[in-house]
Amino acid sequence: MLPSHLNGHSALARRRPRLAAASQPATGGSEEEAADAPLAEHDRIYFQSYSHIGIHEAMIKDRVRTDAYRSAIMHHQKFIEGKVVMDVGCGTGILSVFCARAGAKRVYAVEASEMATQASEIVKANNLNDKVVVIHGRVEDVEVDDKVDVIISEWMGYMLLYESMLPSVLFARDKWLKPGGLILPSHATLFMAPITNSERYEGSVDFWSDVYGINMSALVPLAKKFTSEEPSIEIIGGENVLSWPFVVKHIDCYTFKAEELKSITTKYKVSSMMLAPIHGFGFWFEVEFNGPQDPSDNSPSDLNPLNIIHKKRRRRSDDAVLLSTAPEDEPTHWHQTILYFLDPIEVKQDQIIEGSVTVSQSEENPRFLNIQLDCSTGGQTLVKTYAMR
Ligand code: SAH
Repeated sequence: MLPSHLNGHSALARRRPRLAAASQPATGGSEEEAADAPLAEHDRIYFQSYSHIGIHEAMIKDRVRTDAYRSAIMHHQKFIEGKVVMDVGCGTGILSVFCARAGAKRVYAVEASEMATQASEIVKANNLNDKVVVIHGRVEDVEVDDKVDVIISEWMGYMLLYESMLPSVLFARDKWLKPGGLILPSHATLFMAPITNSERYEGSVDFWSDVYGINMSALVPLAKKFTSEEPSIEIIGGENVLSWPFVVKHIDCYTFKAEELKSITTKYKVSSMMLAPIHGFGFWFEVEFNGPQDPSDNSPSDLNPLNIIHKKRRRRSDDAVLLSTAPEDEPTHWHQTILYFLDPIEVKQDQIIEGSVTVSQSEENPRFLNIQLDCSTGGQTLVKTYAMR
């Protein structure tokens, strides 16, 4: 899939970047319908984007993602067996079916988009009618009489927080999760690191200095602006990353409060591993699938990212499940999110790069993000804002 700024569409809904003109929401299907609740315009457009098959195809074909969820369900099978599960945003119903097959007694599969109709057909076609109840509506509006033992949801957007679906999961947790219940995923961590990517930067910017033998340098300022205007969703590799990653935010889904997402500010300080131009900062995330009382889970200190790295390596060696979207790992449909500078900054090996980053929900639409990046290194300072819409 093309990064949003390359295909000219807005990136609302992570996997299918299209802020389409809205049409009337349809109703129907054999699934249970929630009481009619008027949707805010931005929610209507958001859920409409999830009514398209393409977005579900992209997610389901992302084997790293889908296998991680399936492995997590199997990892917790003993807990899930005979229990009540809620799948927040079931889409096609794939995770609900995995849970039912893993032995859940009942699965409430809640989906606000029109895909709920197909989800309920899929449930029937797989003879799981007696276990999986598809409910068509926003999780905030539906009625479910049971308390649940497990909440599962695939809520992560680009750079983790884009599209702001996590508050819906936390809403379900506070309303229905029994004490001692399981949330999958349980923890999420957003990372950042300075990156170098001459190939990409030169391919978009320096490219214009000689085009078929024509000097088109007049376009360089526009190309720089275009490249650095919006966050860019693209795949980079471990070789592009200039320092140890820094933790922007660690979220414990058992205790986190949605209000904290309004604005997150983190001060960072990293050291460059080599002499290179910094072209910007890369962001990526990982999620873990731990039980509520996992003794190995000590919330890491934001100021000590090395702990995370070591913890992650330790975790990989045991059989706990981790879904990573890091540059050094197998690519996923989330790719990485890059905030490019207008101009690169040269750094030497071991040079300190420090500053702060603020990620906040846009006032115009809480599903959009505003990002402010401050960066100082070697006497140069840069302050830049980005909007992810
Ligand atoms: N669970 C599916 C789909 C994940 S994508 C899978 O793993 O393949 C997230 C889904 O959540 C989308 O289909 C979206 O429409 C739905 N969703 C997002 N917020 C929701 C809410 N508040 N209530 C109900 N569904 C929601």
